[in-house]
Amino acid sequence: MKLDFVITVDRTLMTNHHGREFLGFMTTSPAVGLPEFLWMWICAPKPKCDKFGRPVEAPYGLRKIEAALVGAGFKAAIIDPDYLDKYVDDCLAVLIGHHDFFAFCAPSNVWWAVTKREPVNRKYFMKLMESPAMRRLKKRGGKIVVGGPAAWQWLHVEDLWERWGVDCVIDGEAEKVIVDIAQKIIEGEPLPKYIYVSPRDSPSIDEIPTIVGASVNGLIEIMRGCPRGCKFCSVTLRPLRFIPLSKIEEEIKVNVGAGVRHILYHSEDVLLYGADGIKPREEPLMKLHKLAIKFVKEGKAESIGWSHVALSTVVYAEREGKLVSKITQLIYSETDQDWIGVQTGIETGSPRLSKIIMPGKSAPYPPEKWSEIVEEAFAIMAENRIVPAATIILNLPEETPEDCMKTLELIDRLRDYPSLIVPMYFVPMGVLKSKEELLKFRIKPEHVEVMWKCLEHSLKWAPKLTDLYLKDPALYPVKLGIKLFLKFIEWKKKGLERKVKEYIMRAAEGVFEHRPKS
Ligand code: SF4
Repeated sequence: MKLDFVITVDRTLMTNHHGREFLGFMTTSPAVGLPEFLWMWICAPKPKCDKFGRPVEAPYGLRKIEAALVGAGFKAAIIDPDYLDKYVDDCLAVLIGHHDFFAFCAPSNVWWAVTKREPVNRKYFMKLMESPAMRRLKKRGGKIVVGGPAAWQWLHVEDLWERWGVDCVIDGEAEKVIVDIAQKIIEGEPLPKYIYVSPRDSPSIDEIPTIVGASVNGLIEIMRGCPRGCKFCSVTLRPLRFIPLSKIEEEIKVNVGAGVRHILYHSEDVLLYGADGIKPREEPLMKLHKLAIKFVKEGKAESIGWSHVALSTVVYAEREGKLVSKITQLIYSETDQDWIGVQTGIETGSPRLSKIIMPGKSAPYPPEKWSEIVEEAFAIMAENRIVPAATIILNLPEETPEDCMKTLELIDRLRDYPSLIVPMYFVPMGVLKSKEELLKFRIKPEHVEVMWKCLEHSLKWAPKLTDLYLKDPALYPVKLGIKLFLKFIEWKKKGLERKVKEYIMRAAEGVFEHRPKS
């Protein structure tokens, strides 16, 4: 098979994580308590591929780029990184998209700073770029184009940009611009080194192509953008677009046609599909879920999932029309499914900080009520068998130790709700100048305290949630690996407990300043 454009990414993203999306989270960390090969087998097994190296399931973002290029008449396909060898001597360009090329995003940066070891996502991306196949491509003048949500990271690694001969970085929604870039490559024209696709230039609904191959775990985008306007988030800058049901159905057909048994609705807030501003509406939400249920009832799919929800939407939807109960009852009564996992953001327990950095996150309720909203949303989710994996963001601009205390209190109040709580670290751009800066980065005592509390919360629930998440007997070896990892963390935690408590106490008394070793 001859291709002009080969679309790929390293193993940490070119995988279906054994059909369990959440295992992908482990690719943001170095291997802990397990040998790396076992870690990688658990979180990033090699996907099924055809004889040309085309994976059955591939990351959704890459599928969109493939669809844009194929739709414009180019010879393009997604190829597993292990098959690059077959194409680099003839193709015109290799296109790579990534969520976190260099592990600068949370939570990779937290695990990197805490363990002082490179997360596997960074390690495997570097390996791909240093591979003999990529060198051969460059030697014969082939182009490299990179993009995706982490495109901005290239601005902090100019040495690697130079060393690997990356020709063009596309920062922003790339479905339109990639067609112009491909044309330029065909015609041998020079490429811009960096393209920023502004929100104004983002593709409209009609310009977003329908995928032509299956996405990992049946992920399907149902909307783009988010109206809440949090200061630390770039998603909110993008225009809000709802993908019509007809387009969503086409993509479900592509996925189930390829044998993918999951339908995973992706949005920054699934409950805002078809909403009136930040107020969810029953009609579009019921139609959206009935569409997925239709495929389950026809025996073409097995499960329906949500990527993210906002906690204030959960509260509003339930208070105003019992919408969360109605949707979950619909799913549980019409399918064999009896729970849903979802990601969400707590970020802080401090009303003061919420007001400064994310005043829209609690809307239509005031930011002063944020911690009450979080607690009520957790209660609603527990009643409806929705298990959240929630993030806390530490080190946000203007954060004070008192804000962290409020966050600690909130995590305490969430103790009895089945969930995972994961700390993220807001890393100032200056720290990203080099690997050394990141490793010298200071984690404040109050942050250690919050991280410790998150660890205690998550370790309390992780064993039960692992049993629930990996109950399929075919996944028993994966479950065993995760249980071993959890045992290791429990054991490590016992050894560290006294030291951490002593350290927090002494820091609170101002006895010393924390200086982690580089
Ligand atoms: S609610 Fe989430 S997606 Fe929306 S702006 Fe805030 S952080 Fe971003």
